[in-house]
Amino acid sequence: MASTDTADIVIVGGGITGAATAYYLAEDNLRVTIVERDDIAAHASGFAFGGLYPLSGAGIPGPAQALALRSFALHQELAEALPAQTGVDIGFRSRPNLHLAFSDAEAAALNDESSRINGHSGFSAEWLDAPQAREVEPRISPAAQGAMLCRGTSEVEAAGLTHALVQASGATVRGVEATAVAREAAGGLRVSLANGDAVACGAVALVQGPWLASGAQWLDAALPMTPLKGEIVRLAAPGAPVECSIVWGDSYATTKRDGLLWVGATEEAAGFDEAPSQAGQEALIGVVGHLLPTLAGAEVIKHTACLRPMTPDGLPIVGPLPGVDAAFVAGGGGRKGILYGPMLGKALADCIAGRAPAPAIAPCSPSRFEAAPQSP
Ligand SMILES: Cc1cc2nc3c(=O)[nH]c(=O)nc-3n(C[C@H](O)[C@H](O)[C@H](O)COP(=O)(O)OP(=O)(O)OC[C@H]3O[C@@H](n4cnc5c(N)ncnc54)[C@H](O)[C@@H]3O)c2cc1C
Repeated sequence: MASTDTADIVIVGGGITGAATAYYLAEDNLRVTIVERDDIAAHASGFAFGGLYPLSGAGIPGPAQALALRSFALHQELAEALPAQTGVDIGFRSRPNLHLAFSDAEAAALNDESSRINGHSGFSAEWLDAPQAREVEPRISPAAQGAMLCRGTSEVEAAGLTHALVQASGATVRGVEATAVAREAAGGLRVSLANGDAVACGAVALVQGPWLASGAQWLDAALPMTPLKGEIVRLAAPGAPVECSIVWGDSYATTKRDGLLWVGATEEAAGFDEAPSQAGQEALIGVVGHLLPTLAGAEVIKHTACLRPMTPDGLPIVGPLPGVDAAFVAGGGGRKGILYGPMLGKALADCIAGRAPAPAIAPCSPSRFEAAPQSP
């Protein structure tokens, strides 16, 4: 028989954004229920590469810089707190990036980039000529002219981090799809579930990753959020682990904690298709051939695909859902959603609990997408 539970807050979505929201709400002693239709971390938050690099990306340098650095600092705090709170090893570790240059233009761009990086406390960058770069990783392509070695960056196991945040939050998890959110006549909100149950609550947080637009529609709100498919292959590469992230443009390769060489990532507008593709795998093997040619024949052990949640301007969103009382949204982390996850969750928890969120999220207001009034 269908039943109605109660909670102070219902969080729809069990990716890193929802998990971090639950974690930071735990400080407020609220009864929190996470509604996740698949498993916790079943989509991008479970399969992302987990690189934490706060000095580049959409809006960096620019409006997203403060958010990226603040969230990076929260990751460092979580790396201390979560293993003690949960016993889960989230795999946070320092991971230098070796950015390869294959042309004079790429070398010049990396030299400019290194000056900017050196202006940030806690990070450093230096240009290495080809022999010096090969001392760092002897298997890089002989075609590489040199590389920028960037220190201070980190990585994390995205799935472990997301699970640990949920575990530490103490939130109730309901493994079922949310199908609607409606206002109750007596006040509050009602989240309907696909199995016929419902949860009555004081506020709802919609953190549905690339599916966020459909959640906003339940409350007659429009939010622009689209999926961008990305694939990663994991290879059983022979020899020593690749101890830094080898980076070239948007492509990268490194040995992760599972001992496999992770190579990413494709970018494809393919709707909500999350199936790994032959073309994706071939493109990624091509990346290995370009960056680390002697490893290109390594056996593919795992091949994953998932969806990045993208906003039109590339910046995340976090805050109240415009025009709807007691409804809040966060997401749109795009290619950096694991990096941004802690800060989006903390800012959303602050909004829900009535605290002033950090100034760093000012560029992320959901209201920036509201239609401008038409002139008469
Ligand atoms: C190939 C690839 C590599 C990446 N690498 C990195 C990286 O190195 N560093 C980095 O910072 N970021 C990276 N990202 C980006 C990052 O993975 C995402 O931005 C981030 O995981 C998004 O988290 P989220 O919680 O917002 O969404 P998701 O992880 O998609 O979670 C949303 C959840 O909501 C649930 N949901 C949706 N609708 C409903 C409903 N109606 N009812 C119940 N549940 C619902 C879904 O099932 C899903 O579990 C990568 C992404 C890809 C694709």
